[in-house]
Parts: sequence; structure tokens; C-alpha cells
Amino acid sequence: MKNLVTGGAGFIGSHVVDRLMNCGEKVICLDNLCTGSLENIKTWIDNPNFQLINHDVINPIELNVDRIWHLACPASPLHYQENPIKTAKTSFLGTYNMLGMARRTKARLLFASTSEVYGDPEIHPQPETYNGSVNPTQIRSCYTEGKRIAESLCFDYLREHKLEIRVARIFNTYGPRMLPNDGRVISNFISQAIAKRPHTIYGDGLQTRSFCYVDDLVDALIRLMLSNCSGPINLGNPQECTILELSRIISKKINATYDFITFSLPKDDPMRRKPDINLAKRELDWEPLINLDQGLNLTIDYFKGEL
Ligand code: NAD
Ligand code: UDP
Repeated sequence: MKNLVTGGAGFIGSHVVDRLMNCGEKVICLDNLCTGSLENIKTWIDNPNFQLINHDVINPIELNVDRIWHLACPASPLHYQENPIKTAKTSFLGTYNMLGMARRTKARLLFASTSEVYGDPEIHPQPETYNGSVNPTQIRSCYTEGKRIAESLCFDYLREHKLEIRVARIFNTYGPRMLPNDGRVISNFISQAIAKRPHTIYGDGLQTRSFCYVDDLVDALIRLMLSNCSGPINLGNPQECTILELSRIISKKINATYDFITFSLPKDDPMRRKPDINLAKRELDWEPLINLDQGLNLTIDYFKGEL
């Protein structure tokens, strides 16, 4: 199989590349390296099955592939809000270009969508049937609405052109190769604890997230690509915790002392988030195997090596 992984030099994309390369498949990694890094894919650079193309997905490109893993898009709020118009273009034009390639080459395309399509949810946990509570005019909208129109494009290509699409709604994912300075809560709390600085808690810390370890997520993505399920399908770990609890857990693992400072909650920040994964259990025979405690230990070890 010839695979194209867009965003393959990023956090999740590079783990997908590893998994495919380790199975002996051919992989083209297409990335503009805006938030990804060569370091993440350096093992494969000289491998004849691997090719890196430095390219921006907002521009069309002609490649012949069998499977497209379309992950290119900055994922951390800090990164995607830095250049919001570019973020929206990446989601819309990038997905449009990749769907065009899939149509031409008859490739199957998996699109990395997000739990952000549910916005600040009124239903808890969130099933795929929930249409979301999304604000189109706020600072997160470039990402949220970008992903929503990209999902919409995928399903129009399925209806109009019978394309094989697989839409994954990915919930907060963490693990080795997250950038220590990407501003996401797990990166921040681990980096701060290692540097013996207080944790920065936004709001009262009672907002929740449900964190999935990257190896579990990659298992799910592979199963989804091989399945007959177009989705959309939630992929995440339903183990929910408040940001305050997360802060205490990480602190306890790294420091004896515990300290935090509070800042106001960023605008548009969802109050709670937890995936209903019954569809993934049924269609993919998948559920996460690595709990927060185990995943954090692995991630902390990685950050200690990096910092
Ligand atoms: P990341 O920022 O680490 O990786 C994104 C990769 O895409 C980077 O290598 C970046 O250089 C590349 N990229 C960005 N814009 C591009 C463009 N215009 N052209 C070519 N390459 C471009 O993020 P990640 O956490 O690995 O997320 C990967 C995908 O998964 C994203 O689509 C994201 O929206 C989705 N996702 C991630 C999470 C999460 O918790 N990490 C949650 C939901 C959805
Ligand atoms: N957050 C926090 N302190 C930080 C970084 C994030 O309290 O240093 C909060 C943030 O406001 C949000 C949650 O942690 O409520 C998760 O933030 P992240 O950026 O990791 O992911 P997302 O908001 O995209 O789910």
C-alpha cells in the first residue's frame, strides 16, 4: 500500500508514520513543518520506503497513492489562533485538495476531525449524533468551523463521487512528541512542574477534558482506515477529569510541592468534554487500553529527556 500522511511530521502524524513504516508499507509524508519537526521522522529519512515532501496542503499537488491519512492542521489553540485565516484555509482548501487527489487516484481518505465540532456541548458525554453548540464568530471558530466544513466536504464527496472516506472525531490526545511549548494543558503542566514553576490554571479549573494516550489513538485510526465505517466516529478516552485534578496528578508525579496560579478562562473555552465511544467499540472493536496514570508516566519520561 502507498500511503500519504499529511501532517506526518507532527505529533499524531509521526506516530501514524511509525506504525505504517514498521508494517513495511510505503509512506509519503507531506508537511510544511509549521508545527511539525524533522526530528519526529528522522528515523525514516534514508529509508527507501519513505519520502518527505515539504508542501503546503492549501496548494494542489498530484501524487499517486492508495490511502490518504489527512492530518495536516495545527491542533493546539496557541498555534491555530496565531494565524486564524491560514487555519481556516488549511482545513477547507487542504481537505478540498486531498479529496480531489483521492477522487483522481481512487484512494481511501481518512480525515482527522475533532471533538471541537461539538463546541461547548450541552449533551454529556457527546455522541456522534449530537450536532454541537458552536459559535462561528469567536477565536476558536477558525479551527472549529474549519473542521466542520471539512467534514461536510468529505460527506459531499462520498455522496457525489462515491469516495471512500473515514471521518475520525479525535478528542484530546497526548504523549511523546507533543511540543513542550505548544500551550496545551498537558505540555504546560509537565514543563512547568519539571522547571519547578507553578501550574497555570485557566478559570476555576473545574472545566473537564478526557485525555487519550497517542498509541491508543493510532490503533483506532488504523482500525478505522481498514473498516467499512465512514463515520463520523468519536475516538478518545472517556476517562474524564477536571483541569485541577490533572494539575494535582501531574504535580504529585514530578514534585513534592504543589503550587498554581490562576488566570482568566480563555474566551470560548468549552466547559466539559467526554466522548461517547460506543460506536467505536461496536464498529472498530476498539477501546483505549492505557489509562491516564500510565500515559502520563510515559509522557513525563519523554519530557524529562527533552527539557
Ligand atoms: P500538530 O500540530 O503536532 O501536527 C500537525 C502537522 O500538520 C504538523 O506537522 C504541521 O507542520 C502540519 N501542517 C499544518 N498545517 C499544514 C499545511 N497547511 N500544510 C502542510 N502541513 C501542515 O498537531 P497534532 O496534535 O498532531 O494533530 C494532528 C491532527 O489531528 C490535526 O488535524 C488536528 O486537528 C487533529 N486533532 C488533534 C487532536 C489532539 O489532541 N492532538 C485532537 C483533535 C484533532
Ligand atoms: N488550560 C489551563 N492551563 C494551561 C493550559 C490550558 O488551565 O496552562 C486549560 C484550558 O483553558 C482548557 C483545558 O486546559 O480548559 C485544555 O486546554 P488545551 O489547550 O490543552 O486543549 P483544548 O482546550 O483544545 O481542549
